[in-house]
Amino acid sequence: MQVWRRIQRQNFNSWEKLAHFLQLDPSHFPEILKTSHFPLNLPLRLAQKIQKNHWEDPILRQFLPLQKELQDTVGFIKDPVGDVPARKAGKLLHKYQGRALLLCTSSCAMNCRFCFRQNFEYETEDKSFDEELELIAHDPSLTEIVLSGGDPLSLSNATLDHLIKKLSRIPHLKRLRFHTRFPMGIPERIDEGFLELLSSTRLQVFFVVHINHAAELDVDVASALKQILRLGIPVLSQTVLLRGVNDQVAILKELFENLVDHGIIPYYLHQTDRVRGAAHFEVPEAEGRALLAEVSQQLSGYAIPKYVREEAGMPSKTTLHYDKNKCTDF
Ligand code: SF4
Repeated sequence: MQVWRRIQRQNFNSWEKLAHFLQLDPSHFPEILKTSHFPLNLPLRLAQKIQKNHWEDPILRQFLPLQKELQDTVGFIKDPVGDVPARKAGKLLHKYQGRALLLCTSSCAMNCRFCFRQNFEYETEDKSFDEELELIAHDPSLTEIVLSGGDPLSLSNATLDHLIKKLSRIPHLKRLRFHTRFPMGIPERIDEGFLELLSSTRLQVFFVVHINHAAELDVDVASALKQILRLGIPVLSQTVLLRGVNDQVAILKELFENLVDHGIIPYYLHQTDRVRGAAHFEVPEAEGRALLAEVSQQLSGYAIPKYVREEAGMPSKTTLHYDKNKCTDF
């Protein structure tokens, strides 16, 4: 078994074990959601970064299921970004011109409580990509495929290699994009076999990591991503703006600065998608704009991601503009 798979087996899937490990005060236990269709799934490495008995820890907040997820909030729905109407086949979404998204797998290295795809009904029976590849091959308008999920790095190197080789044979495709959060939980996933398959495709690869807090980017994670950069593959980051996780100027500044210090370009800061159960993570847009205005006064332009919101049915993400001179204290 590959090393990263063995490490993945150490993930916390039981709230009792996690609570014990973190020495959480039992007075908080009633707030925990004990069972969910989208269960606790937290790599040991991330759990080790959580401060003991610290209920408000920014890493813990991202992964611990809470009872408040069951509250219905107006505007927070099952499919906030319109994945279902964009579904062209079981594992293929086509929203934007020139790009399509392959839902490689339903599994992830970790389950993030704010995930907009937590209610998505993945096709799990048919493991092949035949229908999706056929559709891609017959649509010459497509130049880029985004490997998403779930997390594409949940697939074995052999499966990924097979898929990428088939995509590479489609002449009109030029680029291949990975969207992944795996390295933040299990950096060992960036192993030799994976680097080999990245470097052997004719497609220009872009590697986009999802990272929300500077604590997620440690030396091991950075050196795993550095190996991808060394192949000449751009590494970009996406961050979700989350209440209680990164909704402060100093935290965002530290994150963006750490990213560029490791050669990773901050690409997007996403307004939280309004998925059912995630209302407690939302930061109002006016506050987000003010935060970005302030951060942008303190860092170089290349360290500032685009602040965006995804809206179902729109031809691209919506940029949330802000006036650099209008910082407000929140
Ligand atoms: S890793 Fe990405 S796809 Fe998986 S649960 Fe987290 S946000 Fe969702």
